[in-house]
Amino acid sequence: MTASTRSTDATTSTVDAVIIGAGFSGLYMLHKLRDEMGLRARVFETGDGVGGTWYWNRYPGARSDSDSYIYGFTFDRELWETWEWSERYPGSDEIRSYLEHVARRFDLTRDITFGTRVDAATFDEDRTVWTVTTDTGETVTATYVISAVGALSASNTPRFEGLDTFAGPVFHTGHWPHEGVDFAGQRVGMIGSGASAVQATPEIAAQARELTVFQRTANYVVPANNGPVDPEVKAGRRSDWAGIRKRIQESNFGFELYLQESGAADVSDAEREALLEDYWNRGGFHIWLGSYADIFFSTEANDLVRRFLDRKIRDKVHDPRTAELLVPKGHPFGTKRNPLDSGYFEAFNEPHVHLVDVKSNPIAAITPDGLRLADGVEYTFDTLVLATGFDAMTGPLNRIDIRGRGGALLREKWAEGPRTYLGLMSHGYPNLFTITGPQSPSVLSNMPVSIEQHVDYVGRIIADLRARGAAVIEPTKEAEDGWCTYNQEIAHATLFPTADTWYMGANIPGKPRVFMPNLDFVGPYRAKCDQIAANGWEGFAVDGEATPAGEHVYTWAVAG
Ligand code: NAP
Repeated sequence: MTASTRSTDATTSTVDAVIIGAGFSGLYMLHKLRDEMGLRARVFETGDGVGGTWYWNRYPGARSDSDSYIYGFTFDRELWETWEWSERYPGSDEIRSYLEHVARRFDLTRDITFGTRVDAATFDEDRTVWTVTTDTGETVTATYVISAVGALSASNTPRFEGLDTFAGPVFHTGHWPHEGVDFAGQRVGMIGSGASAVQATPEIAAQARELTVFQRTANYVVPANNGPVDPEVKAGRRSDWAGIRKRIQESNFGFELYLQESGAADVSDAEREALLEDYWNRGGFHIWLGSYADIFFSTEANDLVRRFLDRKIRDKVHDPRTAELLVPKGHPFGTKRNPLDSGYFEAFNEPHVHLVDVKSNPIAAITPDGLRLADGVEYTFDTLVLATGFDAMTGPLNRIDIRGRGGALLREKWAEGPRTYLGLMSHGYPNLFTITGPQSPSVLSNMPVSIEQHVDYVGRIIADLRARGAAVIEPTKEAEDGWCTYNQEIAHATLFPTADTWYMGANIPGKPRVFMPNLDFVGPYRAKCDQIAANGWEGFAVDGEATPAGEHVYTWAVAG
């Protein structure tokens, strides 16, 4: 007997909640609603197993850039204390094993329908229920719909002319074949130089006869320093579950990393160099998320850190021309997601690894045996790897036909950019929740921390609705308008919008240029959400009864 009640018609059922996606968010949401709250819930997942984005991202070198001890759930102390990660950063296979372990621990798969994509979700105003339909022809009605589709799950394949004429295999890093790819003896062309390409480059270079990376924008890449973790450090962490949990929940970014109190421009060159050198050697996001706060606000301060990073790249890369291409130009450090390096720059010192600038000379077309640049120069290779990223944040939601009140399509409402309250709900779409949706801290944080916060919050909202016998909750238009304005105002107080990034939708031609994550950061955002709940769900209407959002909702208070 499953927790979800199926009607006699095998293609139709009614549950309390439909959850879309079985990654971190969907798994915890199912556990929360079903096991902790006693609701009937069903999960639909496109993949044939759990993992979400990690189900698909199996390219060589795929690994989280978050330290493994904080890249998991903390809601279950025993789960956290007993799971053993093998290295400082968890690899893609290990993350999938972890999530499979979670699914087994809570017996989750019995309520997950795999190999099934949700095509549409439509709100029925009279009955106040959602009707969810899938690509397998199933229809489910539910009081609540929770999108757990992730922020980076809709892969982006640029519309290169001639792409379908390429004679060899084409692989997208975000949809990697499960059986792996044998690059031995191959000439490989890879388009992209983001986090996926940075991880894949040394791994592919180690196998391939030749690797040519086509780079549009150089990235600041800092050392990961992956490897086994000292057993004493591990033991210390294991005995500090409560402390670690509290610290990451209250932090800015969901890491145990804290911005310096002084600015980069306030300290002497020697002091700054010493800190940056120390952080460089420690590896990870120290230089990005643990250094000087003013690098996010002041070009001058940012330039001081850039100078250090530029020098590091020139030191690592032997060929001065290649080094110059790899030194980022035109965007401040930290405004693009900072990838971590495990031999990326060193790979370009290998004679069979080449770097081609496709910014000044863009890709004109893919040809049957390679590609051609705008100036007519051709490159030939046997295998094409697209490390071209994702239609981030809004993409996964916009690919579903979501219709709220009056049949209004969410993707049409979001045509000029996402419109939400707290990145969690959108006006006109009652009882639809978006875990780590656009306009929440989401991708500017260590994701499991933000996921847990949103799942807990959705659980709290639903529990409260049920306790008072209320049918629907949705944000007011005023609260949502205020949140959208506030988000843009705080983003534009920083350097983030000055860069062409997927945070800004700039990687997708035609996508509105709007900064999509929320910059409240993890701890202050959590406190804000808690205050909103304590004040009677400010900014929301429960069964039509609205509580206005107070000033604090639109006040920026960055934690240390
Ligand atoms: P990405 O950062 O968006 O990188 C895509 C790359 O493809 C960029 O270099 C982009 O250039 C290039 N590109 C896109 N369209 C192009 C075109 N038409 N012509 C030439 N180049 C083109 O994607 P990603 O590397 O998959 O990473 C996306 C995000 O996923 C990361 O930022 C990170 O948040 C997450 N991720 C995390 C990890 C991890 O934790 N280790 C690993 C992988 C991914 P432009 O920069 O000029 O747009």
